[in-house]
Amino acid sequence: MKASEVRSRFIEFFERQGHLHLPSGSLVPEDDPTLLFTNAGMVQFKDVFTGQRERPAARAVTSQKCLRVSGKHNDLEEVGRTARHHTFFEMLGNFSFGDYFKREAIDFAWRFVTEEIGLEPDRLWATVHHTDDEAAALWPEVTGIPPSRVLRLGDEDNFWQMGETGPCGPCSEIHYDKRPKGATLDLSPEQFEALGEADEFMEIWNLVFMQFDRGPDGDVPLPKPSIDTGAGLERIAAILQGTFTTYHTDLFLPIIAATESIVGRPYSQATEDWEEGLPFRVLADHSRAVAFMLADGVFPSNEGRGYVLRRILRRAGRYAWLLGRREPTLDTLVGVVVDEMSDTYPELAARREHLVRTTRAEEERFLATIDAGMSRFEEVAPEGSSGTISGEDVFRLYDTYGFPLDLTELMAAERGYEVDRTGFETALEEQRARSREARATDGAGGGDMASVEIRRRDAQQEFVGYEELRVETPVLGYEAEGDRVRLVLQRNPFYRESGGQVADRGTVRGEGWKGDIERVLENDTGDVVVEVRVETGSPPDVVDSVLAEVAEHVRRDTERNHTATHLLHAALRHTLGDHVQQAGSLVAPDRLRFDFSHTGPLSREQRLEIERHVNEAIWANAPVEIGHRPYREALEAGAMALFGEKYGDVVRVVSVPGMSLELCGGCHVRTTGQIGQLRIVTETGVAAGIRRIEAVTGRRAWRLAVDQEAELEALAAKLGVSRRDLSHRVSALQDEVRRLEALLAARRGAESADEAERLVAEAEELPGGGGLVRTSIRVAAGTDLGEFGDLLRARLQSGAAIVHVAQDDGKTAFLGVVTDDWIARGLKAGDLVRTASRTTGSGGGGRPHLAQGGVGDASRVEAALDEAADQARELALTVASGA
Ligand code: ATP
Ligand code: MG
Repeated sequence: MKASEVRSRFIEFFERQGHLHLPSGSLVPEDDPTLLFTNAGMVQFKDVFTGQRERPAARAVTSQKCLRVSGKHNDLEEVGRTARHHTFFEMLGNFSFGDYFKREAIDFAWRFVTEEIGLEPDRLWATVHHTDDEAAALWPEVTGIPPSRVLRLGDEDNFWQMGETGPCGPCSEIHYDKRPKGATLDLSPEQFEALGEADEFMEIWNLVFMQFDRGPDGDVPLPKPSIDTGAGLERIAAILQGTFTTYHTDLFLPIIAATESIVGRPYSQATEDWEEGLPFRVLADHSRAVAFMLADGVFPSNEGRGYVLRRILRRAGRYAWLLGRREPTLDTLVGVVVDEMSDTYPELAARREHLVRTTRAEEERFLATIDAGMSRFEEVAPEGSSGTISGEDVFRLYDTYGFPLDLTELMAAERGYEVDRTGFETALEEQRARSREARATDGAGGGDMASVEIRRRDAQQEFVGYEELRVETPVLGYEAEGDRVRLVLQRNPFYRESGGQVADRGTVRGEGWKGDIERVLENDTGDVVVEVRVETGSPPDVVDSVLAEVAEHVRRDTERNHTATHLLHAALRHTLGDHVQQAGSLVAPDRLRFDFSHTGPLSREQRLEIERHVNEAIWANAPVEIGHRPYREALEAGAMALFGEKYGDVVRVVSVPGMSLELCGGCHVRTTGQIGQLRIVTETGVAAGIRRIEAVTGRRAWRLAVDQEAELEALAAKLGVSRRDLSHRVSALQDEVRRLEALLAARRGAESADEAERLVAEAEELPGGGGLVRTSIRVAAGTDLGEFGDLLRARLQSGAAIVHVAQDDGKTAFLGVVTDDWIARGLKAGDLVRTASRTTGSGGGGRPHLAQGGVGDASRVEAALDEAADQARELALTVASGA
């Protein structure tokens, strides 16, 4: 049975039992800062189980994308080694929100595995928490499993809790016995666990019985116990496909086959070749993780989720490297994952280009760093020696060269070195602390929390700010502190910063007092809290109702920028391609900033094209339509989902028909014409593969034009011409400058010639004939010494010169020339200059006929000229007397 059939049978089976099929949540948990990645099916229902959110139905079924690479559940090191662990996997789950409990959960699970997909009942074992007599009795009663195959295990395996407090309860697992027929059925819990570790048993399903609410005073029974279950799709597929490992199922074999053809080596499924096949399995696993993380909007970086992605990518790169690859490999495998999985997860195909391109870019970077880092590694761990590589060194390899710890460890082990892991981790933690600090001082805004007690539980807060900017509203919560008050308004018109759109400004008035909104925050139950500075009157003790008013012109400017952002996003994709993905956005009243994935700067033409495209949509004065639709339907219609946003089953969709369709909770103009105009102000790079556009609209676009016009006017006034003649005037000025420069050069040439003439006239007679110039001169800055040397040499006709040249700008040098006849007799300009320069403690030299050298100690210039001149005289004397 193919894995895809297991998935659909599971969903259909539970739909028949009255469960609502819900889509997988994102790998990036929505609004849960405590969790880097979704690691179980229940993550998207956390708030439902704690009662903070209404249940979507009494029963639900999902196939959830999971990642176990961080935190409490980290299976990274098991990947490829055990027969059953992955970083990315799919968890099938059925959920009861206060509806059915243990008996039905056990019954459903048993019927699914035995009747629906036909696992042999004799091979199934169950485990329960050692205190859970109820479950221990239910298993044999409901399923007929012999009590000897129901084992009682401890907290570690069979007790589940959401956090330090909150819902918790015992679990029950189903395990599959992979041992040959006839193996002993008499097992203690310890023996059973050891066999599980050894992959002789495989856990396939965990049923969590949410039974208690853990509080400071212990566990209190929940009034409505719930069920949360998780079954590994890969593991069930492995059993049904008769293979001992999830890696040899149809979910992984196509990726392994692609790897074989890329690296040109075969992979063997034989048990005895297990060790050798490790790199293939790691690559198959990691390519899935990478594809799904990228598709859910994670981008490789040095922090948080992006950092985990980068580590996985690099780990994969390292294994490809071990297989002999020196070029990107994973990009192709990511493509295979997209082909294999897009039917179920259309978000992969939707972002295919982006997935493959980002993977390749990251791999290329990794390969380049491996090359660069190898020489550093040679230094800290020379071949033929041994010892411990210090934490500092390991960290430097990691931080500067991008060597992950495991790569360093592997290479170190190959050479007989140890690695100071603790030292490395200390260094790493220090770095993290530094970057945390940097972030804290960044003042990034958003996510600000405030605790205001809600006094009136009889009403729910409602955001009315889409339609109303001025409302009389009851107050649900109120707190005063100095001249600041915090309010929870029942009918709240103030937008809280979200989806890039900044918070509203405005005022709040009560009886006898009035204040301005300073911040718009959120309390821990998700209500919007406004913080107001009281400007007139003084904060009262009790407030029942107020008049709340959003600063309209600020909001309208913000709306212009928000709709314009959607149009810009669409225009970017239209002009540059579908690889463009939003990577960050700021929608403020005075400007918009949009970060997006794209490599390389935009050309002038592209910029204009994008700007024109947006403005055409504005001129069309198209209606902005806002509606609600089921999430899946919206995605299928091509809506662009923004990541890190919270999406329920029904989402708010903002569309400009024919132009743009996005899931968005923000505030927008009613027709595009209200935007007025969009002007791109700057386009820059912010990170590898990420560009940033800043643009203005409406009154700011007008302001920009006015300011630019004023600048031109000022310029024209300065040049004393009309605006129309500006360009003409500037060209004329440039011509004038060129003419003057030429004139100056000619003047300098003439001066130089005169100077050369003068020097030659003052030359002393050399023994054997010809002249020797030995002197210091001052010349204009910018004089070309080579040219001057040539002039001097031509006028000298026969002889040599050693000259100290000081230019007006303070530069000094020795210049030496020798005529051809004296070169023939052994005198060389290079030698003279070298002697002079060396005497001042500097260096120089050059060709026999012309040379230049530096001047070190200025007080030695005269001595230097003497030395060089003496050298010339001596040589001349020797030649003359020898002749
Ligand atoms: P194991 O002990 O095998 O690591 P677990 O106890 O960590 O499993 P649970 O947290 O109970 O697993 O998760 C529920 C189900 O999800 C498991 O029964 C299994 O089928 C599946 N599962 C858990 N971790 C992984 C993984 N790393 N790769 C693939 N499937 C997994
Ligand atoms: Mg585990």
